Amino acid sequence: MTSSDDRHGPRPEHGPRTRLVLGGRRPDEHYGFVNTPVFHGSTVLYPTAGDYLGRRSRYKYARRGTPTSEALESALAAIEGDACAGVALLPSGLAAISAALLAVLKAGDHLLVSDSAYDPTRTVCDTILTRWGIETTYYDPAIGAGIADLMRPDTRAVFVESPGSLSFEIQDIPAIAAAAHARDAVVLMDNTWATPLFFRALDHGVDLSIQSGTKYIGGHSDIMFGCVAANARTNKALRDTVFNMGLCVGPDDMNLAQRGLRTLAVRLAAHQEAALTVARWLEGRPEVLRVLHPALPSHPGHALWRRDFTGSSGLFSVVFRPVPPAAVEAFLDALTLFGIGASWGGYESLAIPFDCTPIRTATAWAPGGPTVRFHIGLEDPADLIADLDRGFAAMKIAAGA
Ligand SMILES: *Cc1c(COP(=O)(O)O)cnc(C)c1O
Repeated sequence: MTSSDDRHGPRPEHGPRTRLVLGGRRPDEHYGFVNTPVFHGSTVLYPTAGDYLGRRSRYKYARRGTPTSEALESALAAIEGDACAGVALLPSGLAAISAALLAVLKAGDHLLVSDSAYDPTRTVCDTILTRWGIETTYYDPAIGAGIADLMRPDTRAVFVESPGSLSFEIQDIPAIAAAAHARDAVVLMDNTWATPLFFRALDHGVDLSIQSGTKYIGGHSDIMFGCVAANARTNKALRDTVFNMGLCVGPDDMNLAQRGLRTLAVRLAAHQEAALTVARWLEGRPEVLRVLHPALPSHPGHALWRRDFTGSSGLFSVVFRPVPPAAVEAFLDALTLFGIGASWGGYESLAIPFDCTPIRTATAWAPGGPTVRFHIGLEDPADLIADLDRGFAAMKIAAGA
């Protein structure tokens, strides 16, 4: 991936912020310009027929890699830790999930997936994987070392997501990884919430760490992007699968991902702080039954989160005390700073109503009231709190209280 002179690249002693600044940069190869140019390309020309026949060229064809893709891969690898053997770039987070699963599974295999996984991940398992003879069993995200009891001789992979999508359960990844590895199964993780800055998945026993780069890596709600970091055990299978499926990312989107990555640490720190401010305020509201945020001591997964994570991002959920559905809609419709929409990880705040009841199959979802997921953006937290206060006033009127 990276060639000869890497004096501009991150060194072993560098911290994650320095790595984000240095990763993937080769000014020596680009006339001194700070950033790697965006290479729009398909064909790569070879000087002679002999060079072509001998494939003697640093770049062969754009689908196999360009300076733009290599820069992004090595920048992403620089923050995944020493166990990272390679990073694959995908056109969306869901493509990253599908490709990672297809890289390690074959017909006749059995897969274990957390009941709290992102719903479209389940759809991949229940449609494509089922059709190809791969069976999925969903398990309680709180299972921990008990996952050993679900392992069968044909179990080849365990998929974890921590915290869980929408519901924010924290999983005991080291315990699950130990049980999986004892039976020679690989561990895949959707690490979109924490990013490798707040959870070093590969260091905790994960073999394939997946992110939807649409979220915090892009950070500006303007791209679809995904990536998978592999360790030495899984890297070749991942690379081959992504290449053979012809998956690649457009140069402009790679460039936006690269640009977003430079400021990931400062954005995440701001999301973290603002989200905690808002979450603590919500926890004190009479309308709120529970706040599902793992960095709050009230969260059932708080001790595990403290043990394994080094930070929390801007996404969490809230359980309201029971009110009619119209009152929740009135709350959301009264918000002016929170957009109502899917996805998250951009600079702007978002809020969506959700219900995990129809998604779950291994565990029951009974939070005790209606649920809303918030993404806390980079606005002033005081303004967001004032907005939420307006929402609660509208909720009260709609509930007829
Ligand atoms: C959004 C999301 C995805 C899917 O990412 P896309 O880029 O939208 O395909 C996967 N996992 C989690 C946890 C997500 O929030």
